[in-house]
Amino acid sequence: MPTECDILVIGGGPAGSTAAALLAERGRDVVLLEKEHHPRFHIGESLLPLNTAIFDRLGVRDQVADIGTHKPGAEFVSDDIGKAVQFSFAHGLDKRFTSSWQVPRAQLDQILFQTAAQRGARTQEGTKVTKFTPGAANGRAAVEAVGPDGTVQHFAPRYVLDASGRDTFMANRSGSKQSNKQNNTAAVYAHFRGVERRSGEHEGYISVHLAEDGWFWLIPLPDDIMSVGFVGNASAFKGRTGTSRDLLTQRIGAAPTVHDRMRHAEMVSD
Ligand SMILES: Cc1cc2nc3c(=O)[nH]c(=O)nc-3n(C[C@H](O)[C@H](O)[C@H](O)COP(=O)(O)OP(=O)(O)OC[C@H]3O[C@@H](n4cnc5c(N)ncnc54)[C@H](O)[C@@H]3O)c2cc1C
Repeated sequence: MPTECDILVIGGGPAGSTAAALLAERGRDVVLLEKEHHPRFHIGESLLPLNTAIFDRLGVRDQVADIGTHKPGAEFVSDDIGKAVQFSFAHGLDKRFTSSWQVPRAQLDQILFQTAAQRGARTQEGTKVTKFTPGAANGRAAVEAVGPDGTVQHFAPRYVLDASGRDTFMANRSGSKQSNKQNNTAAVYAHFRGVERRSGEHEGYISVHLAEDGWFWLIPLPDDIMSVGFVGNASAFKGRTGTSRDLLTQRIGAAPTVHDRMRHAEMVSD
């Protein structure tokens, strides 16, 4: 017999775990399936002030603050002329939330997943949803998932919420996925130690360095880690050879304002 539930959530990233927690809190019978095991690496480390409202709703603000660096604003640096301009969130229109955090996503996503379980969602890690059939029987969908030991599990939810992120589980299967030709970018990134950090009131700011054919993020994380990534359109990557690590190293070398901050840096991620 399939496991019945009100809502089956595909994916235990921030969206899926938040939805599962809030639905379970309202008395819904929720199953949350995540194909990986937390904590697991994920990109997307620099949060925005309005995330705080969601963390408050989930009751996890202090936990997020504990794992992150305080982020009071953002700076934009021109690689061309070497000048920078800073924007403090304190000058934003909404004065309720004037700062945010930068977090290792492995830890943030684990906190949110655990919160979903604490609110009553039935959570499973290492469980990949492989098949979804809408309106199978009794007004319920049929969902198949493969658990950690390889066994196929069957679910019969009233609703299915696709929070599979970049995997776009349902859009792939329904053929409804469309690419945006105007925004055809890709990114290479890594974690480093020993990158020059900003000081004083700009400590904790995310730095966005604008280069000729793309831009870099420098996101200060705890423990002297700096997340560094380069985002470029197709032309920035065309004809390149080597690993993504080589490519990132080349791009850093070609961007004076980034290279200058990374003279003594050491890559600490794979
Ligand atoms: C290069 C880059 C840099 C970024 N930087 C930032 C940033 O600085 N700040 C920011 O706010 N955002 C950033 N983002 C965006 C951010 O990563 C996403 O908005 C965020 O992760 C989306 O959360 P989500 O829960 O929707 O999806 P995800 O975080 O991708 O979570 C989806 C989850 O679903 C699971 N899953 C997928 N398929 C299945 C399946 N079939 N069965 C079970 N589980 C499944 C995955 O394992 C994953 O855990 C960045 C994105 C990119 C690509």
